[in-house]
Amino acid sequence: MNTTFKPADLMQDNQHFGEFGGVNPSISDSATYTFLHAQTMMDTFEGKQGGCYLYSRHSSPSNLYLCEAMAAMEGTEDANVTGSGMGAITTTILQICGADDHIVSARTIYGGTYAFLKNFLPKLNIKTTFVDITSLAKVEASIQSNTKMLYCEVMSNPLLEIANISELAKIARKHNIPLVVDNTFSPLIMSPFQMGADIVIHSLTKFINGMNDTVGGVVCASKDFISATKNVNNGAAMLLGPTMDSFRSSSVLKNTHTLPVRMKKHSENAMYISERLEKDGARIVYPGLKSHKDHELFKSMYNEEYGFGGMITIDAGTLETADAFMEMMQDRKLGYLAVSLGFYKTLFNAPGTGTSSEVPLDEQKEMGLTQGLVRFSMGLDNNIERTYQGIKQCMIETGII
Ligand code: PLP
Repeated sequence: MNTTFKPADLMQDNQHFGEFGGVNPSISDSATYTFLHAQTMMDTFEGKQGGCYLYSRHSSPSNLYLCEAMAAMEGTEDANVTGSGMGAITTTILQICGADDHIVSARTIYGGTYAFLKNFLPKLNIKTTFVDITSLAKVEASIQSNTKMLYCEVMSNPLLEIANISELAKIARKHNIPLVVDNTFSPLIMSPFQMGADIVIHSLTKFINGMNDTVGGVVCASKDFISATKNVNNGAAMLLGPTMDSFRSSSVLKNTHTLPVRMKKHSENAMYISERLEKDGARIVYPGLKSHKDHELFKSMYNEEYGFGGMITIDAGTLETADAFMEMMQDRKLGYLAVSLGFYKTLFNAPGTGTSSEVPLDEQKEMGLTQGLVRFSMGLDNNIERTYQGIKQCMIETGII
């Protein structure tokens, strides 16, 4: 358990006034910026002059405010926000890896990341070995002389396995490769950079924004790495162009101020539902339950005040039962049958046919992802006992319990 790092305090101290004394920073509504002297423009282009804005694909004041908040949250020197989580993931990977390189990745990761590694990167002759990230011996054995990156999610999607970040960081360090971690499922709860990860990525689309009104992403890392991704000559972020729009970054920034309270409530609600449904006989996976295989590991890593997160999976047995269960819950206003997570309303989907459908069926089976698995992202429901009774009733009526 981490007792010293206080991410919410660092975020709270990140205070900026608006142009006319507003309590929110002004929005930079410009794609390009003027210079009083041509020489300053030249120097800015060449990276010799800091403090000036050139063009919003590179950086903009609004984006930098959000970058500061995200760097404070992870305790990194710097950050760069992108137009989507995939924008953050793909630019990071392409910044680090080139032709003939190799990646070692956890096999249980978001389907889009899995598809990028498995189907897209081979076009550039970048190959990936997918491993069971909970087996440190297998991880180390998969590293080759051309391996350039170790990649995982702290809490995996959708199986909620926990990656032992400090041990993985030791392996990465030993082989002189960066450990790149997607912390989308557990913002504030886990601080991977503090445990030794080199680069931390989030899809802002999920808990961090929390409103489901935009997609967004962020890469949190050292100043050197972030600057390299923004280099006008060879930076992946600058040249692939996944920039976030200023209006969006200013709206996401406002929502980061409620993230600590929201995360606590997501976790409180998920714990309430999990404990009760487990007692009712549901096959339920939640890191806060003693029955979760990585419960103790989670406790050794987390920032305790934020709990065990908002994600739960329930095994409904078959896809047909899972579908009937989810439709019934939606009809009864318990949440939405929708992909994604981290929303104020509860969302549920069957990842085998939804968010992990990019993973072939035989591989899903091998990693323990059954077709009847229902993934829940618990909402901020005020009366969680009422929600629990509603979900339980649907489980009884569909024969799950
Ligand atoms: N990482 C994880 C763990 C995700 O669940 C997702 C999307 O579901 C992403 C990354 C991709 O983020 P985005 O949809 O914002 O591109």
